[in-house]
Amino acid sequence: MKTRIVLLGPPGAGKGTQAKRIVGEIGVVHLSTGDILRDEVGRSTELGTTARGYMDRGELVPDQLIIDMIRGRIEAAADGFLLDGFPRTVEQAEALEAITPIDIAINISLPREEVVRRLTARRVCRDCGTIANLLFNPPDDPTVCPACGGELIQRDDDRREVIENRYDVYERSTAPLIGFYRERDLIRDFDGSRGSAAISSEILAILSE
Ligand code: AMP
Repeated sequence: MKTRIVLLGPPGAGKGTQAKRIVGEIGVVHLSTGDILRDEVGRSTELGTTARGYMDRGELVPDQLIIDMIRGRIEAAADGFLLDGFPRTVEQAEALEAITPIDIAINISLPREEVVRRLTARRVCRDCGTIANLLFNPPDDPTVCPACGGELIQRDDDRREVIENRYDVYERSTAPLIGFYRERDLIRDFDGSRGSAAISSEILAILSE
């Protein structure tokens, strides 16, 4: 069983969706640096205040801040974790390697035009965090959360120009990690344009090997 898992892929490839399913099935700890940062921003902590400018522009938050933020959480989840949105740079991957070995890096790919199409249609509930997509599971009312009735909003970084920038950042800084993990024989590739249920079953089968 593989329990120390890294999820790689451009924004919008379905990492969050797959992460929820994997965590639900195999019970490892879900560590999403994007979620942790959004929580810091929401609470206006010092880290949140620093991170916010980078996030709103679609830029990466500096490596050292991210590594300091995540290190303790990874160490506390020694039995198993799923890293979603970390590492995002070779420097972060090297820092992770110094903290713990991993069992597998799951790479979900998706071309730029599909990322833009999906993310401009993404909405998130202001109250409960449920993610809705106006393309795939359109709620009856595009402004009302189907789970709790709260308000569905667009994340600032899901605006088109920010998405384009996030994809550029992905290609420049994060895509090199595919080679990094391939060299270590840890990568498994998935085509993110296929249905999310089909991808989940394949991932779960591979994790149980
Ligand atoms: P995500 O929800 O993973 O798309 O992350 C949202 C934003 O948080 C990104 O566009 C970055 O600004 C920031 N972020 C999340 N994870 C990282 C990371 N590992 N390194 C640097 N910035 C990050």
